[in-house]
Amino acid sequence: MSDEDQILYRVEDKVAVITLNRPDKANAQTQGLLDDLNAAWERAAADPGVRVIVLNANGKHFSSGHDLSGAGSRDAVPDKMTLAHIYELEAKRFIGYSLNWRNIPKPSIAAVQGKCIAGGLLLAWPCDLIIAAENAEFSDPVVYLGIGGVEYHGHTWELGARKAKEILFTGRSVSAREAEQAGAVNRVVPLDDLDSETMKLAAHISGMDPFGLRQAKRAVNQTLDVQGFQTAVQAVFDIHQTGHGNALSVTGYPVISNLEQMKKNVSKS
Ligand code: ZN
Repeated sequence: MSDEDQILYRVEDKVAVITLNRPDKANAQTQGLLDDLNAAWERAAADPGVRVIVLNANGKHFSSGHDLSGAGSRDAVPDKMTLAHIYELEAKRFIGYSLNWRNIPKPSIAAVQGKCIAGGLLLAWPCDLIIAAENAEFSDPVVYLGIGGVEYHGHTWELGARKAKEILFTGRSVSAREAEQAGAVNRVVPLDDLDSETMKLAAHISGMDPFGLRQAKRAVNQTLDVQGFQTAVQAVFDIHQTGHGNALSVTGYPVISNLEQMKKNVSKS
C-alpha cells in the first residue's frame, strides 16, 4: 500500500467520509498519515458542498495510536532527540491537528470499532459525535511509558474526572457501553450496523440548516471554552512534555522503556 492510500476521502450526498486506511497496522498513526488526515479535514472544511464530516476506519480497530516505530516520518529526525524537537513535532501533529478538527465549523461524527488506544483518542475526541460499535474500547495506557496521558487530554471532559483517573492509573480500557454511560459516546450499535447507522445520522444532520449547525456547534464549544477547555488542553499538553523530558533524562528516549509491558497489557485487556 502506498503512503497516499493511508487516508481515503470521498463525498457522498453532502457528507465527507474520511477513512483511516492502514488496517494491517491497526491504523497506527505515522506523521505522514496525520498530515494526510489533516489535509482531508481541511478539504472537507473548505468544500461548500460538504455539510457533515464522518471519520471512520478500515479494519478491526479504529486506531492503535501513534506508530512508535518512526515509520513514515516526513520530517528529518535529528541525531540527538531533544525535548525541543519532541515539543515542536507534537505541538503541530498531536495537539494542533486535534484542536483544528475540533474547531472546524461543521459537525463531525467518529465511527469507532475495536481498539481506540492513546493516540487513537486524539482522532476520536475532537469529533462532535461518536458512534461506537459494541466491540469498541477506549484506553490511554501511557503511564506504562512514564507519561501522564496522551498529548490531547479530552479524557476528563469526556469521561468525567473519576473515570479519567481510573483509566490513566490502571491502563485499562473503557468499553463502548461504559463510555456511553459516561457520556463520551452518543450511542452504541452492533458492529455490522456501524457504517449504516453513522451514515444515517450524517444524512439526517446534513439536511439541517448549515448556518444553524455551525452556530449550534459553536454554542456548545464556546460553553466548554468558557469553562476552560482549550486552556486546560494546552496546559495538559505541557504537563505531557514533562513526561518526555523525564524519560529523556532517564533513558535518552522520549518514553521510559515499558513498551513491551504496555503491549502485553493492552492485548490482554
Ligand atoms: Zn508525546
